[in-house]
Amino acid sequence: MAVHLHENDLPADVFAPGPVAVDTETMGLITPRDRLCLVQISDGKGDEHLVRFGPGSSFDAPNLKVVLADPARVKLYHFARFDLAAIEHYLGVVAAPVFCTKIASKLVRTYTDRHGLKDLVRELLGKEVSKQQQSSDWGAPALSEAQLDYAASDVRYLHEMQVILAERLAREGRTGLAQACFDFLPFRARLDLAGWPDHDIFSHESA
Ligand code: MN
Repeated sequence: MAVHLHENDLPADVFAPGPVAVDTETMGLITPRDRLCLVQISDGKGDEHLVRFGPGSSFDAPNLKVVLADPARVKLYHFARFDLAAIEHYLGVVAAPVFCTKIASKLVRTYTDRHGLKDLVRELLGKEVSKQQQSSDWGAPALSEAQLDYAASDVRYLHEMQVILAERLAREGRTGLAQACFDFLPFRARLDLAGWPDHDIFSHESA
């Protein structure tokens, strides 16, 4: 169990076959304005790999892009919509196919409105993750130990949770509905980037 920090790209061939958990940290919530600072990725075997991009980066990261764009590898996210937009905008790849634990949670945990990562990890796995570093300076030249551990913990539990959520989706007869939502997510992210971030195009409302 270790956290590996890399500059600008992953080493080649660091992951076992199968799904990878993915998260990003940025300078803020407005993707075209707020640059991508960190991509966290894990194959669920115990290690997390963090790829840092400095200011003015060309985002030339061939090894990372191969993993993200691999159609044979499911990418596990918590709130994929944001990460897909950041990855498409800065790295130029669509990081699909997708499984989003937040959408799966909304489709099966209809008894609560608490679908944050912290709440989900607590209920499904009985573990505590800290969100203290969530709003911190991810563009700093050196990331603190607390930031690195926070960033890694955001991808640490997604494999375990995916298994449990997939079982619950099957139990409630919503596997197909979830898959349709996951398949649409890259397009939802593209709508965000194209100028419809706050508008629900399925809504009756015109604007
Ligand atoms: Mn995160």
